[in-house]
Amino acid sequence: KSGDIKDRFEEKIKEMELDKEVQVISTGCFGLCEEGPIVVVYPEGAFYSKMEVERVDKIVEEHLYKGRIVKEYLYEGSLDAEDLKSLSEVDFYAKQKRVALQNCGVINPEDINEYIARDGYTALGKALTEMTPAEVVDVIKDAGLRGRGGGGFPTGVKWGFAAPQVADQKYIICNADEGDPGAFMDRSVLEGDPHAVLEAMAIAGYAIGATKGFIYVRAEYPIAVERLKIAIAQAKDLGLLGENIFDSGFDFELDIRLGAGAFVCGEETALIASIEGQRGMSRNKPPFPAVSGLFGKPTIINNVETLANVPQIINKGAEWFKSFGSAKSPGTKVFALGGKITNTGLVEIPMGTSLREVIYDIGGGCPNGKAFKAVQTGGPSGGCITADYIDTPIDFDTLTELGSMMGSGGMIVMDEDNCMVDIARFFLEFTVEESCGKCTPCREGTKRMLEILEKIAEGKAVMEDLDTLEKLAVNIKNTSLCGLGQTAPNPVLSTMKYFREEYEAHVKDKK
Ligand code: SF4
Repeated sequence: KSGDIKDRFEEKIKEMELDKEVQVISTGCFGLCEEGPIVVVYPEGAFYSKMEVERVDKIVEEHLYKGRIVKEYLYEGSLDAEDLKSLSEVDFYAKQKRVALQNCGVINPEDINEYIARDGYTALGKALTEMTPAEVVDVIKDAGLRGRGGGGFPTGVKWGFAAPQVADQKYIICNADEGDPGAFMDRSVLEGDPHAVLEAMAIAGYAIGATKGFIYVRAEYPIAVERLKIAIAQAKDLGLLGENIFDSGFDFELDIRLGAGAFVCGEETALIASIEGQRGMSRNKPPFPAVSGLFGKPTIINNVETLANVPQIINKGAEWFKSFGSAKSPGTKVFALGGKITNTGLVEIPMGTSLREVIYDIGGGCPNGKAFKAVQTGGPSGGCITADYIDTPIDFDTLTELGSMMGSGGMIVMDEDNCMVDIARFFLEFTVEESCGKCTPCREGTKRMLEILEKIAEGKAVMEDLDTLEKLAVNIKNTSLCGLGQTAPNPVLSTMKYFREEYEAHVKDKK
């Protein structure tokens, strides 16, 4: 649909001989998915939402030709009485801070010059010509950047493990195997700002002494893959990837590897096995990939969003990064806001923003006046946070304390009509399907958990089944080999903790 809208804009602009003054550019995601497709006309910043091909002619004739904004097609929230608000004043954006998403919806991701015009590749130039590898690692450490893929491990510390390793080859891998149901943060960054990830990977390569990188991306993300290919080719043409970058003597090559959609391949060791051409299965750690990773060489694996922060930290410094977010979790986090929420979309907030602000100020609350019940964070690895904790500041540690986790950033909102047993069952079905089968607790245990959940949902369970379910969940958590199995019981455990009466009601009501 967006392609048709763009085509019609180009035709109409040509028809009206405006093509020397007006450029039509495809960008990445604006974040406000609920209102898409979106067209923004600059310099006014007029935000036309829910666009249709039929509306294009009027916008060209009125706005582009006569300079009169077509108010009836504008996003309602962008008008203040009769005045046009700037995008940063629109409710959906006002509490957001766009760092990882700074170029998404702004630049043409298929044109390296637009990235360069927004300071693109200056951080790489600065790192290579003004800083030692150790200084680069130190800045990332000082900034307190933590891995946005789920674990929250400090990125600079991770780089610091690989940097001193002596090897004839080291690797940087970008983990773009985003697999949580409902999550699309990484896809949006790759589609909207691929050069930020390439630049960050080259910086990381310089920091640890790696000359080769791989982007492991889901094959189900064809636009992201295509834009990455274009970005790599453009960066190579300009000498920003390849040999002797910025005449520094540093070489860095990048390749793409496609994942086949196995959730477990988001786990570092399974991802490495997959790139090596083996079946995507986790292995025990240690050795950690920073010591012995891809093809047995020191390897750093960072998630897309983590990397997207790196160039700005190098350019603006650790203090700048620490000036927003919370003390233990500096910076921002991107969330994919979905479920029973008015403004579904992609939001980037400073860490420490409260759930209330996300759900109500940014998300617009639950549709149809329904009461907010809970939010699931962290996807199948996470848990539910109830309305009682709505003023919780969101960061890595507070979510973990509540029995959930940040995960990669999926945030699914539930209203008063949602059944929490069904929610738990939905996520458990996913993990049962995605278990790689290597270890017994996860392979067999999650299936047994699902059988009990199904019994509960069908009204065939007895109270003792709830205790068995809980015990089984705790055992699987404690004994599974990798993160998938260790976190698979989380949705069950957290819903049982906060909504046990719903489980009991299923048993009582349907017996
Ligand atoms: Fe495979 Fe699950 Fe064991 Fe991980 S926990 S190794 S996904 S069976």
